[in-house]
Amino acid sequence: MLVAERIEQVRAWRGHVTGSVGFVPTMGYLHAGHLELVRRARRENNAVAVSIFVNPLQFGPHEDFERYPRDLQRDLRLLQDEQVDLVFAPRVAEIYPPGFSTAVDVGPIGERLEGASRPGHFRGVATVVTKLFMIVGPHRAYFGWKDAQQVVVIRKLVADLAIPVEIVAVPTVREEDGLACSSRNVYLSPEERRVAPALYAALAHARALWQEGARDAETLRQAVRARLAEEPLIRLDYVSVADAGTMEELVVVDRPAILSLAAWLGTTRLIDAVLLGAE
Ligand code: AMP
Repeated sequence: MLVAERIEQVRAWRGHVTGSVGFVPTMGYLHAGHLELVRRARRENNAVAVSIFVNPLQFGPHEDFERYPRDLQRDLRLLQDEQVDLVFAPRVAEIYPPGFSTAVDVGPIGERLEGASRPGHFRGVATVVTKLFMIVGPHRAYFGWKDAQQVVVIRKLVADLAIPVEIVAVPTVREEDGLACSSRNVYLSPEERRVAPALYAALAHARALWQEGARDAETLRQAVRARLAEEPLIRLDYVSVADAGTMEELVVVDRPAILSLAAWLGTTRLIDAVLLGAE
């Protein structure tokens, strides 16, 4: 496994690879969700590249960039065990050297939901993912449905800019109690960790109503709100039932949709999502 810090090392590696390249962009502090993406990439490609880069551009000024968990040595051991070929773990200055000023803006799709709560977030995501695609040149790139709006944004990005990469979206990996695996789960206090599974339980409850035939989007949102109102440690940021292609809020669920939420547990902000008839 080659561990590269420099763009030119990745390009040199890429020049010698034969067959398809699968790419998994991450911010590190790897968990079972990341490893599921890596395994899928391993199965479907001749070579697998993983990036580990905590991207400052996608964090707001008062967010957790500085305290975001990092453990490169542990991540490298895990990726070695998955037979990854290349790990790209650049420093911030390698990606954003002095004078860097270009940004990729996906428009309104990136201004809703996560984009509304975290202004500039998807501009940061789209910019770094575009740059990573230009560096790695993958045939396929793997993203998790936990970050459902991110999947939709990245698909729009590669379609709009005609970037020749197939975006593969992978189902969310969960802990046994239903909580979506997330690097941020380590922030949770024991009490917060105990109630955190309510997030998925609320989504699964609303999805069951949809499976039983409920099509009024507000009924589904309200079902999530009511379930989470029972948990004083959880403060809901938003709950959404949105068109799976545009992320526009729906009135009637008459097409593939994404049911998603963001919530605060103390100072930790978690997101989760389920699909209603999409993919
Ligand atoms: P992150 O390191 O949080 O930027 O995540 C890197 C990639 O892993 C993104 O495509 C995420 O959507 C994906 N991911 C994170 N958590 C999970 C999970 N629990 N299940 C599946 N994919 C995930």
